Amino acid sequence: MASVCRHEFKSRDDLVAYVKELSPQATNQTISQLQPSMHLIEGLLQQVSPSEYARSRNFLAGAVTHLSPFITHGLVTIQQVRDAVLAHSDASTGEKLIQQLAWRDFWQRLARQHPDWLWHNIESHKTGWQPDDYADAMPDDVVDARTPVACLNQLIQQLCETGWIHNHARLYLAAYVVHWRRVKWQVGAQWFMDLLLDGDLPSNNFSWQWVASTFSQKPYIFNLENVHKYANGVLDTAPERNREIDASYEALQQRLFPHMVEGQ
Ligand SMILES: Cc1cc2nc3c(=O)[nH]c(=O)nc-3n(C[C@H](O)[C@H](O)[C@H](O)COP(=O)(O)OP(=O)(O)OC[C@H]3O[C@@H](n4cnc5c(N)ncnc54)[C@H](O)[C@@H]3O)c2cc1C
Repeated sequence: MASVCRHEFKSRDDLVAYVKELSPQATNQTISQLQPSMHLIEGLLQQVSPSEYARSRNFLAGAVTHLSPFITHGLVTIQQVRDAVLAHSDASTGEKLIQQLAWRDFWQRLARQHPDWLWHNIESHKTGWQPDDYADAMPDDVVDARTPVACLNQLIQQLCETGWIHNHARLYLAAYVVHWRRVKWQVGAQWFMDLLLDGDLPSNNFSWQWVASTFSQKPYIFNLENVHKYANGVLDTAPERNREIDASYEALQQRLFPHMVEGQ
C-alpha cells in the first residue's frame, strides 16, 4: 500500500524537521525563508507594474514579479497574472510581461508535444564541440560557489540560499557552466532543478538548450561589461576578481569556441 505523507504540522519547525527526515540525501540543507500564502501572492499581483517591468526587467535589481515559484506550484495561473497585468495597463504597456508569460506557455506546450526533447539535444551544438566533448559532472567549485569568477559565486550562493535568481543571472550561470566549463547542459539543468523553488522542466531545460545552442542559432555568452551594465551595485564586478569573463565578445568566442565555423 502506498504511504501517505503527513500534511498537518504543529509549526513550521515541525514541517522543516519532517521534510529533512524525508530527504536525508539532500545536499543543500538550507531552508528557504519563502512562506507562501494567498495574501503574499495577492500582494505581489498588486505590485505588478507593467511599464516599470518593460523598462527594467533585464536588470538584476529590476521590477520583475517574483511570481515564478507560485506559478510553478499552481498557486496562481498565468491567466490570472495576465489579468492582473491588464488591470494595471493597456495591452501595449503590458506587452513585455505578457510576452514572458507566453514563453512559459510555449515551453509547456512544446514539452507536451515532444516530451523526448526535454533531456535530449534538439539540434546539434553550433559551438564546434561534439556532445562527448562536454563533461558529465558539475565541477565542485561551481557547486560550492568557489569558481574564479566572483560575481558568479554570489549568484550561486543566492541560488542555494533562496532558491530563486533573476532570469539574467540564470543565463550567466548556464553559459558559464556549459561554455566556460564545458559541462553537458543536462547536468546544469539538473543542478538548477535541484535548487530552484520554481523548478519547471520545460522552462528550465529548453532555456538551457537555448544557451547551449542545441535549440538556437548560436551559443549564448556574456562578458563582464554586460554584468557590469545589468548588475552594477548588486554584484562584485571588479575586473581583478572576474578575469575569466573580462574580455570582448570576439576574444571570448575565439577562446571558448576555437573550432566554431560561422554560419553552421
Ligand atoms: C537557464 C534558465 C533556466 C530557467 N529555469 C526556469 C525554471 O525552472 N522555472 C521557471 O519558471 N522559469 C525558469 N526560467 C525562466 C525565467 O528565468 C524565470 O521564469 C523568471 O526569472 C522567474 O522570475 P519572475 O517570476 O520574477 O519572472 P518575471 O520576469 O516577472 O516574469 C513573469 C513570469 O513569466 C514567466 N517567464 C518569465 N521569463 C520567462 C522565460 N524566459 N521563460 C519562461 N517563462 C518565463 C514566468 O512564469 C515568470 O514567473 C529559466 C531561465 C533560464 C535562462
